[in-house]
Amino acid sequence: MTTLTTKTPSLWPAAHEADARRSRSRQRQLGASDTVCERRAAYILDESEPTDDSDKRAAILGTYLHEGLLTAAKREYGWLIETAVGDDLIRGHIDAVHLDAATARRLPKRLRPKQPADVVTVEDVKTKSLFVWDRVVRYGATEAEIRQVYLYAGLLRSVGFEDRWGQRPLSRLGPIDVQRIRFRFVCRDNGEEHIQEFAYDEAEAQRARWWVELVRSYEHPEQAERDFDGPGLDAICDYCVFRTRCWGHGVRPGAPVQTILIHDDADRAQALAEYVHGHELETQGKKFKRLARAKLDASAPGVYGDNELKWQGGRDVTDEEVDRAAVINRFRELGVDLPTEPDLDRAVALLQEAGIAVPMRTVRRTTARSIKVSPARTGTT
Ligand code: SF4
Repeated sequence: MTTLTTKTPSLWPAAHEADARRSRSRQRQLGASDTVCERRAAYILDESEPTDDSDKRAAILGTYLHEGLLTAAKREYGWLIETAVGDDLIRGHIDAVHLDAATARRLPKRLRPKQPADVVTVEDVKTKSLFVWDRVVRYGATEAEIRQVYLYAGLLRSVGFEDRWGQRPLSRLGPIDVQRIRFRFVCRDNGEEHIQEFAYDEAEAQRARWWVELVRSYEHPEQAERDFDGPGLDAICDYCVFRTRCWGHGVRPGAPVQTILIHDDADRAQALAEYVHGHELETQGKKFKRLARAKLDASAPGVYGDNELKWQGGRDVTDEEVDRAAVINRFRELGVDLPTEPDLDRAVALLQEAGIAVPMRTVRRTTARSIKVSPARTGTT
């Protein structure tokens, strides 16, 4: 293996530099894509200085892939990509807007799509890793992703395309009658595509705007809700550049940062009740799974309803293991002494079998900490 040296430097410093210069990396105004977490959106609005670095490599690769796909769609299909929308509340760029024939006819020919849509559709292209692909196919866009696309679509319906250089003819169309939302998920690892579509819902668009208005109404970012469980428990927080500002360092060195959420015994009682509830759900879930697994044991692979059944393992395989007798023989053939490290477990077992006390000595160690929760006895606090 060849390691990176000063002669063959890593590409990542260059990619990070270039990413830092991108307009969105520098932007301080709230963008629709910043609406993932209420607290994080509040920090951005407050122009708070980031407290942490974050490994952006996966995000940068996602950006390259995203740009490549959209550029190809523009060139080959005439898609309207990366158009700007905004008002005094929020701004952003829409991945793709598919205009219907009537709206497209109002544009210069060079901006018309090769194939107009049946209704105006706002499309958001998301690249995802194989790691989360099953969840994406099963559940579709997250609440935050839906909020983001409704912010875009709502702006198109109320204002239209932003009046700025490069898209003046689009802005002259005025408000656009968006009728459909589409998510196009692309798997980064194998290129698979998954489409999720639904009709535009004005109530959802209103809800998205209220969310932004609420964040803007806070005097201090710390008034905003943390929408995730924190570093170590949620990947979004692990990569958040405000994680130390948001969570601090825990109540003592080495303790999870979530310990800051406990202030008094009422908080402890609440957390214990949540733990017990979680345990009950887990027990019930395991029971459901065990019964379903047993029922399916003789079923052939295939698609049944919303799910596909596959079987893994269960094959006869040949494997290699150390041939102990042959190893000892090989040592004898070579005339080499076998290692004579005593087998302590066996020695202890022999002493116990013979009824002889096993010599013990005192050592200090720290046991693994595990939680044990049981019902409080009546009359105890
Ligand atoms: S650390 Fe997590 S909860 Fe806090 S602002 Fe960042 S994403 Fe939100």
